[in-house]
Amino acid sequence: MAVHYRTQGFILKKEDLREADQVFVVYTKDFGKLKILGKAIRKIKSKLRAGIDLFYLSEIEFIQGKNHKTLTEAIVIEKFKNIRNSLKKIEIASQIAEAADNLITGQEQDEKVWNLLSEVFEKLNNWKLEIIYYYFVWNLLSILGYQIDLYHCVKCQEKLIPGLMNFSSESNGIICLRCSDDSTKDKILISPETIKIFRLFPDKNWRILSRLKIEQEQGKELEEVSQSYINGIISK
Ligand SMILES: [Zn+2]
Repeated sequence: MAVHYRTQGFILKKEDLREADQVFVVYTKDFGKLKILGKAIRKIKSKLRAGIDLFYLSEIEFIQGKNHKTLTEAIVIEKFKNIRNSLKKIEIASQIAEAADNLITGQEQDEKVWNLLSEVFEKLNNWKLEIIYYYFVWNLLSILGYQIDLYHCVKCQEKLIPGLMNFSSESNGIICLRCSDDSTKDKILISPETIKIFRLFPDKNWRILSRLKIEQEQGKELEEVSQSYINGIISK
């Protein structure tokens, strides 16, 4: 008889397959990121349907087959109703799920990632803050070993002094103006205000984060720097 595995998981992605099947990308508490097949789950009579859906936290049970894991039971723990009722929040949750799926590669249990996901889903459910996506991404990068030094130039190691600087995903960090020559091709201008926002993320101080006013210019820099760094990591 097949062994049944039981755990909790955040449903990050779902995709329809043929014959009413669906495949889910789930970040689980005990096994890390998994792909699990929901057999005939789109049929009205399916007992699994109610227990699992995009951005749910569910208790799941599955069996390991030869080629894939198959869902055998699903019970919803938290539906995150406020996320599901807001297009903006669904967009942020999708960005979080996409980043998690792209950056977490191996199937490995990690309590820190689990806690981070629990934290951002809860925050996103209760608050409407775009910063939650960047908070998630930079804390995830740090857990995965990709943290950057936000206080020193990656080239000369000198302490960064307020002023315009460059971010380079190729160099894995911030480059002071003195060291920014033409040999750095992928550099992105980054302002001291934006660096200050990045420095807030490791502290996890939501009292400060929730009051943060982000100007359009900083929003653009946050997006460019994050995307460039993620792309650099994925393409390695
Ligand atoms: Zn320098």
